[in-house]
Amino acid sequence: MSSRQLVLRGLTIGGEAPVRVESMLKIPLSLPEECLAQCISLHKAGCELVRVAFPSVDLRANLEWLNDRAPVPLMADIHFDGAIALAALESGIPSIRINPGNMGSSHLRSIVASAREKKAVLRIGANGGSLSSSQLDAAGGVRSDALASAVEEQLRILLAEGFEDIILSAKSTSVMETVRANTLLASKYPDFPMHIGITESGYGRDGLVKSAAGLSLLLAQGIGNTLRISLTEKPEEEVLAGYALLRALEMRSHGVTIVSCPTCGRRRIDVRSILEKLEPSFADLPDALTVAVMGCEVNGPREAMDADFGVAGSPGGAVIFKKGKILREVSLDELPGVFADFACSSGAEHPRNSCEHLKGE
Ligand code: SF4
Repeated sequence: MSSRQLVLRGLTIGGEAPVRVESMLKIPLSLPEECLAQCISLHKAGCELVRVAFPSVDLRANLEWLNDRAPVPLMADIHFDGAIALAALESGIPSIRINPGNMGSSHLRSIVASAREKKAVLRIGANGGSLSSSQLDAAGGVRSDALASAVEEQLRILLAEGFEDIILSAKSTSVMETVRANTLLASKYPDFPMHIGITESGYGRDGLVKSAAGLSLLLAQGIGNTLRISLTEKPEEEVLAGYALLRALEMRSHGVTIVSCPTCGRRRIDVRSILEKLEPSFADLPDALTVAVMGCEVNGPREAMDADFGVAGSPGGAVIFKKGKILREVSLDELPGVFADFACSSGAEHPRNSCEHLKGE
C-alpha cells in the first residue's frame, strides 16, 4: 500500500520512504533545556520524529527555542484548543497533531490556512480514550468505527479546504480495536500516510508484546508509515523497540540483530551474562550486522548460520564463528577483546581511545 509522500523538515514519510520510528518527549516543555537533551538522546538512538506535548500558548517561546535547536523534526501534540494549534504553527514547528476527539471543527479552517502558509504537516490523531459519547453513539457503540469516523470527520473538512499534507492516526489501548480502525481508514484513504501505535500499551514485557502484536498485524498488511511503541519506559526504549520490530519484520536494518539461544542442559556458558557484557557496544556497530551468542558448540554455529559474529560455549571457553564457520576457540577472558577486534574491523563508530586494541597504534 503506497501513500503519497510528505516531507517534514527533510524527513520523508509515506510513499517509498521506510517506516519511520517516533517517540515522544517525557519532559514538560517548561523545561526546554532538558527537553533538548532528551531530543539529542532520542536522535542518537535513531528516533526520526519527536512529538512534544504543547499544552498552552504560554509555552510558545519554549517550543520555538526547542524547534530551532532539536536535531530531529518535532511534532507539537495539541488537545482541546485550536488556539494552541495556531500558536504551535506560528512557532515554525514542521508538524502538529490534533485530536478529533477533543477539538471541535471551529478552528480547523484557520489551522489549515496557517499550516498551508507554514508548509506544515497536520496529523489527525484520534485516541480511544478521548472519544466523546456522541462519537461513540453515532458509531453504534463500536469503538473501532468511532475512532475511524472521528478521523474521517476532520479529514473531510481538511480536504474540503484543499489541504492534503495529512497523516492519519487512530489509536486505542485495545490491539484489535486499533487494528480494525486502522484497516478501515487505510482501505478508505490509501493516499494518506498513517502513523500507527497501540496507545498506553503498558510497561515492560506486556507493553512490548501488545505493541508488537498490534503493529505487526498492521505492518504485515502494508499499513503504517510511521510508528511509535508507546511504553511506560524511557523514550529511547521506545525507539530501540521500534527498530527491533522493524528488523524482525525485515523492514528496516537499523541496529544489530541479536541471535541467542534459550540455553538447555547442553549449555557451557552463561549466555545472558555474555550478552549483557557485549550489548553496550552494539550501539556503535554499523547497521545490519547479526551477533549470535549460543550456549554450546554442538548446535550453536549451525543454528546461527548467518551471524556476522558468533560465540558458542565450548569446553575451553567459547568458539568464535562467522557465517556458520568456526574460526577458533578463545577463553572467556579473551572474548571482549576478540569482540572489540570484530567491532573495529566492521567500522564501529567509537572513540579511538576507547578501543583497547587500537591503543598500541
Ligand atoms: S545452542 Fe546448545 S545450549 Fe543453546 S539451546 Fe542449542 S543445544 Fe542448547
